[in-house]
Amino acid sequence: MGRDPRFDILFEPVQIGPVTAKNRFYQTPHCNGTGDWTPRALAGMREMKAAGGWGVVCTENLMVDTHSDINPFPAVRLWSDEDIPAQELMVDKVHGYGALAGCELAHFGIASHNRITRKVPLGPVSHMTMEGIDPTQSKAMDRSDIRRFRRRHREAALRAKRAGFDIIYLYMLHENSILSQFMSSRINLRTDEYGGNLENRSRLFREVLADTKEAVGDKCAVVVRIGAAQLVREPYFENGEIHDFIAMHAEEPDLWDVVVNDWSFDSPTSRFGKEGHEEEHIAYVKALTSKPVVGVGRFTSPDTMVSQIRRGVIDFIGAARPSIADPFLPRKIEEGRIDEIRECIGCNICISGENTFSLMRCTQNPTIMEEWRRGWHPEEAPPAAASASNGPVLIVGGGPAGLECALTLARRGFDVALAERSDALGGRVLAESALPGLGEWIRVRDYRVQRLLEMGNVELYLHSELTTEQVLEFGAPQVVCAIGARWRADGVGRAHLAPVVAPETPHVFTPEDVIAGRISAGSALIYDDDGSYLGPALAERLHNDGCEVCIVTPHTTFARWTAYTLEQGRLMGRMVEQGIDVVTARTLVRFEHGVARFECNFTGRESDFEASSLIMVTSRLPNTWLYKALARDQQGLRTAGIVGLHEIGDCRAPGLIAHAIYAGHELARTIDGEPEADIHYHREFTMPAPGREFS
Ligand code: ADP
Ligand code: SF4
Repeated sequence: MGRDPRFDILFEPVQIGPVTAKNRFYQTPHCNGTGDWTPRALAGMREMKAAGGWGVVCTENLMVDTHSDINPFPAVRLWSDEDIPAQELMVDKVHGYGALAGCELAHFGIASHNRITRKVPLGPVSHMTMEGIDPTQSKAMDRSDIRRFRRRHREAALRAKRAGFDIIYLYMLHENSILSQFMSSRINLRTDEYGGNLENRSRLFREVLADTKEAVGDKCAVVVRIGAAQLVREPYFENGEIHDFIAMHAEEPDLWDVVVNDWSFDSPTSRFGKEGHEEEHIAYVKALTSKPVVGVGRFTSPDTMVSQIRRGVIDFIGAARPSIADPFLPRKIEEGRIDEIRECIGCNICISGENTFSLMRCTQNPTIMEEWRRGWHPEEAPPAAASASNGPVLIVGGGPAGLECALTLARRGFDVALAERSDALGGRVLAESALPGLGEWIRVRDYRVQRLLEMGNVELYLHSELTTEQVLEFGAPQVVCAIGARWRADGVGRAHLAPVVAPETPHVFTPEDVIAGRISAGSALIYDDDGSYLGPALAERLHNDGCEVCIVTPHTTFARWTAYTLEQGRLMGRMVEQGIDVVTARTLVRFEHGVARFECNFTGRESDFEASSLIMVTSRLPNTWLYKALARDQQGLRTAGIVGLHEIGDCRAPGLIAHAIYAGHELARTIDGEPEADIHYHREFTMPAPGREFS
């Protein structure tokens, strides 16, 4: 099927200064939790975007100088010529598919702690360092510091050009750019020609822009990435000033890459931002400039994309998360396969990688960052070995683990039978997506179920709660247990190693009870030792159902894990708006006769909370019984002809939906292979082996 002509405009070439993008799909710079210790994995990930049809593929921040070391946050460096080969690797891969390669040069100024380089942080003034907790301040840059910074930025731009980049960024995003810090009237209180009015405060920007254009502008587009609207409470600049700044320099860059500030507004989870969420804040930019504008907005629908372009909001469809969830999104639109787009669900698990300093994961795309390490392709998997023709793989459980396993097996050519106990597929995804704000998460199920329904080699059985005997009778040579987990009601979790509440205690509930609507009135107390997205979502649901809600957590901060997905502050705001009480650092001691007793973590002082229901969000019990019973019955397995018995997802080890998807995918790729090696992926070494260059 060919492309729908309505979407032709998305595939028009667009000129950016001296270079031309082949289409309007623009993967904007995005971090990935690694940094320069994984050049091959990064190149493999970016290459896949180019293969998937993105016309522009950019790096994350490339630090220009040793005064900008943001360790432990992962970063790539372009400090010296030794940093060039890793970038050449990425550029060559991206060019291999006719895409432009962009690099984002950055200096974090007072947001650099320089823990590794041990240099003093630099900034327009002496200010407490940002983005960290060290009690350190920056040095106010004098003229020689400014000259040195300009020289280092220019040298980095020249290195980027030598690496082959087509697009070179000046980074003015958020508060962590030295150029934004100079521009900020709140931070920059200098009295020399770099301080005072807007013209003076943007002098350093103009100088660096001129340096860059002079150094690389013959071959490379020089673009500016800026927070075009400040949505935080105490912004660095007034929005009017950003407007004036862009107007003042409207024609100087070859392209404006515009977002909103801060990151939690720029990459909101789907409960705080729907597709196209930035339009109202950035639409003004195009009226100020004749240069092309790229903007993001978790775009996954070609209709929305076309609409934004036709209405003159943006010229390029910028994307980070949608390109992670589906690197082949442009190709699918081009080939008329819109239904096959694996849409981002806005969960920000990818971003938690950066914030936990670890390789990013994606709930929707288990192959992300595994392109080079494990040779995984997001759309293709090797055909099944000949032994696969001996009979179907039976998957028990239709949650995310079972569905992903079924889909990848079916794509490989296996016959698949999937049995699900309930009347619908989706498992926990189906349940959790019914909670307020999590509706888009159903895309995890829908994408997989739609594909499975199209495949001739898949049988889906609903209302099919399988027993051990039925599994043995089924006659499948491979059996996969993917039967999930259930929440505990006894309080065992991180804070309690032993139960604090006896079984069957009246008025004690689990998250499943809330989702099933079993609590509809009275005072509901959520005891949240899980600390994830779930506690706040349950609180909102109970509030909507008419309960008076309080969340108590043994942790020192509310929903602490959600800091990694950029939600914590906004979720807390929502709790406050809804009148949901939040109490931290209290550990549950007991619950009797509608009274919960807690102990203060710091003083041991006890306090009582009355509640008509107590909802335990502490930990889950994996449903191990099926796997264990089958594994015990070796004779039964032999008689049934079962040669492979597997356990995946939450029934093996409860985790995020992303973990279950990964487990399902991994098993489907390896089920007919050799037993897994101890080191199951290619590692990258800082020193290449003798005589070996990057390849
Ligand atoms: P995961 O995240 O590991 O996929 P879920 O809990 O989301 O786990 O999904 C497990 C699925 O397995 C649920 O949809 C549940 O209804 C189903 N299930 C549980 N026990 C059985 C069983 N004995 N037979 C068939 N399906 C089952
Ligand atoms: Fe989207 Fe979630 Fe994947 Fe990030 S992890 S790209 S937010 S689906």
